[in-house]
This record gives sequence, C-alpha cells and structure tokens, in this order.
Amino acid sequence: MKNPNIVILGAGYGGIMTAVKLQKSLGPNEANITLVNKHSYHYQTTWLHENAAGTLHHDRTRINIKDVVNTSQVNFVQDTVASILPEEKKVVLENGELSYDYLVIGLGFEAATFGIPGLKEHAYTINSINSARLLRQHIEYNFAKYNNEAAPKEERLNIVVGGAGFTGIEFVGELANRIPELCKEYDIPREKVRIINVEAAPTALPGFDPELVEYAMNSLEARGVEFKIGAMIKEVTENKLVFEKDEQREEIATNTVVWAAGVRGNSLVEESGFEANRGRMPVEPDLRSKQYPEVFIVGDCALIFNEETERPYPPTAQIAIQMAENTAANLTKLVKGDDHIEPFKPDLKGTVASLGHNDAIGVVFDDKKLFGWSATAMKKVIDNRYLLKLGGPSLLLKKGKLNFFK
Ligand code: FAD
Ligand code: NAD
Repeated sequence: MKNPNIVILGAGYGGIMTAVKLQKSLGPNEANITLVNKHSYHYQTTWLHENAAGTLHHDRTRINIKDVVNTSQVNFVQDTVASILPEEKKVVLENGELSYDYLVIGLGFEAATFGIPGLKEHAYTINSINSARLLRQHIEYNFAKYNNEAAPKEERLNIVVGGAGFTGIEFVGELANRIPELCKEYDIPREKVRIINVEAAPTALPGFDPELVEYAMNSLEARGVEFKIGAMIKEVTENKLVFEKDEQREEIATNTVVWAAGVRGNSLVEESGFEANRGRMPVEPDLRSKQYPEVFIVGDCALIFNEETERPYPPTAQIAIQMAENTAANLTKLVKGDDHIEPFKPDLKGTVASLGHNDAIGVVFDDKKLFGWSATAMKKVIDNRYLLKLGGPSLLLKKGKLNFFK
C-alpha cells in the first residue's frame, strides 16, 4: 500500500507546529509529508507590532523553516497556494500542483476591512513581515521628510491606529517607546507628534478586565497616546481619517492610518468553495471540515465555539498551537490505522498583552491579574516556551527574549 500524502498549507503557528510534531511521530516510511508556505521563513505574528514600530528588527521575528523542519522527513515547498480543489483532493500552487490524502489548512488571517471606503487603498496593516517592515519604513520616511519641506505638514506626524483591541494597544505601546527615539534622530520636537488610537466600542480592549484596561490606558496616556473612544472609523483617504463620535463627524489629518480593527480568516478558503464565515470554517469537534473529512483546519481559518458562552473562541496563536498538536496526534493515529481520533479541547492559559518594552497587562490561570514587570516577564516566558517547543534550546538561545530586565 502506498504511503498517504499529508499536505500542510501555511507555516504559521498552526501549520509549522503540525509539521514539527508529525516529523517526530511518523517515520519516513509511514507518510509523505509536504509543508507549503509562501516564504522560506516562519514568523511570530505575536511580535510583528514591534517590527512595525521599529523596536525589534524583523530578523528576530522570523525563523528559517529549514532550521526547524527536518527536510529528510518533510518536503518543504516554498510557493503560494492559489486554490484548493477539495473534490479532487488537489492543491493548486502558483508553480505547480499537489495531491493529498489528508490536508491541513493553516493559512492564517488577513485584515477585515468591513467595506470601509479607502481602507484597502490607504491604510497599513500588521499581519506579515512584509507589511510590518513597510509600516516601519513609512513612519520613518515621514519623519525624514518633515524637515525637508518648505511648509512641514502635520499629517506626516499624526499616526492614527484604528481599533483598541489587543493588536492596536500593543502597537501604540511600542510606538510610544519608539517615537522619542525618532524625534531625536530627525530633530523633531516630541510635542509635534501625535499617536491617536480610535476605538468604536465604549471602552478600549472591550471585554477585558476593566481594572487592567484602566491601567493600560493610564500607562499609554502617560507616554503621549491619545484615545478616541466610542469613535467609529468611517473613511480613510491619502491624507485624512474620518470618524464618527456622538453623531458628529470628525477628521484627523494623517497619512499614516494603521488598521488594527479586525481580522478574518484567509479569503482563499471561501474562494475554494469551503463554507466559511469571514474565512473561518466551522469544524467538527476533531477539527475536520464538515464538508470534507480528510481536511483538517488549524489556527485562524477554523471557527470553534466555546460551549459555555456559545460564542466563538477568539483567533489566537495559543489556540492555533494547541490545534496543531491535536491534529498531528490525530493524523498519526489515522496513518497508523487507528480511527479513534480525539476531539479538540482548548486549554486556555490566559491572555497577556504588551504595552511597550517594560510594561504589560494580563490575566493568567483563570483570574490572576498581572501588570507591569510581572506581566512583561510572563509574556517573555510564553514566547520563549513556544520557541523551545518549536525548535528546542538552540532556537530559544538564537531567537528568545532572554533578558527579563529589558
Ligand atoms: P498565521 O500566523 O497567520 O500564519 C499563516 C501562514 O500562512 C503564514 O506563514 C503565511 O505566510 C502563510 N500563507 C498565507 N497565505 C498563503 C498562501 N496563499 N500560500 C502559501 N502560504 C500562505 N495571539 C496570541 O495567542 N498571543 C499573542 O500575544 C498574540 N499577539 C498578536 C500580535 C499581533 C500584532 C497580531 C496581529 C496577532 C497576535 N495574536 C496573538 C494572534 C495570532 O498571531 C494569530 O491568531 C496567529 O498568528 C494565527 O496563526 P495561524 O497559524 O492560523 O496563521
Ligand atoms: P479585535 O477584533 O480583537 O479588535 C478590533 C477592535 O477594533 C475592537 O475593539 C473593535 O471594537 C474595533 N473596531 C472595529 N471596527 C472599528 C471601526 N470602524 N472604528 C474603530 N474601531 C473599530 O482585533 P485584533 O486586536 O487585531 O486581534 C485579533 C485577534 O488576535 C484576537 O483574537 C486577539 O485576541 C488576538 N491578539 C492577541 C494578542 C495578545 O494576546 N497579546 C495580541 C494581539 C492580537
């Protein structure tokens, strides 16, 4: 009998962890494993806001796939997935085609722009190394340009971040640390620069612990971040952002709008005919597609519900990693002829969000609140633990955040 072909799409948290686990649990004579990713590297999305602000170089965030994937056991294909043909059990790549017996979809997330005029054309996002690097360069270019114009333009120094969810808050936290450095470098008085965080809900970090939200806002405001709360972004143009607050329309002159106000699953899944809600596919309890039992979905493309609250779990790296572990264990069983595969049960350890280099907030182990240095240290522990899991001590030493005092 021929070995089954297992094809894994995407080398984000979900995809790469599935590949790394499978290379340990299956021998080369048991299955042909292929991992497809558009770049030669995996990146830690959870650090991208630092790359985008310029507080961490993007080479720290990305990891060469061949450094963690054993290419004698996993065939790594650097290519872009163009479409999936589930009826034919095939994947079309920009430069070829692959057939599968089992497919794992881990193609991740993209910005959800909700049809807001001008967003797609004019706003920046933080969702890949490329987009983070572009944003960092764009901010720096505007600082460099400012003193080269006969009439300096205020929009060059107004940075507007849409959404005060975790991405928006983490990014303004990094910016608050970075802006004083840029001001010094480009001879611009700090008071000329504005960092404005615009949030539609009645609070920043809606749904998060109110005491910690207050702590976060105080910390960020003390470093110069302005909040517009209850303010819905309506339009973005090349040099302004329009929002509505208390039924009044207001404008901010800016040529830097960062859209951190929502994510959706990769649109490729809907385009390939899978039933999905904003790119997130409802799955069976064992993470298989409801339409195609040989297809597993991990990470932000999967839609899973919390039975207690009946609400979807938020798309997080934490859940993507756990989904990968579950899927790798289930695929191993199937390949070895055991059909009794396990349902996925998320084991949420908490949420910790950074507010800049030396400040953070979090709730861990059900209800333990953390803030300040202890939360920063906890975030580093979480990140370092992931690196250890992915590539062992050598990866941790190479990429880890080992200085707990900085
Ligand atoms: P992704 O990480 O999005 O990876 C998808 C992969 O697929 C990428 O490698 C991409 O290049 C590849 N790909 C996409 N399309 C194609 C294609 N067509 N062909 C080939 N390859 C393709 N979650 C937490 O739990 N904790 C945090 O602290 C945290 N911080 C975050 C900070 C920021 C700034 C952001 C934006 C998100 C954060 N999240 C955090 C959420 C978390 O990053 C996501 O839930 C997680 O990245 C999802 O993992 P994934 O494997 O589904 O996909
Ligand atoms: P999100 O959906 O969690 O937050 C988006 C925010 O934008 C919301 O507060 C929403 O009210 C606001 N918003 C939406 N439309 C708006 C509009 N038109 N005008 C103004 N505000 C608007 O998105 P996110 O912050 O990118 O997070 C995505 C996922 O990644 C979440 O699951 C989150 O938990 C996870 N994440 C986790 C961490 C962490 O754990 N440290 C960090 C970043 C992201």
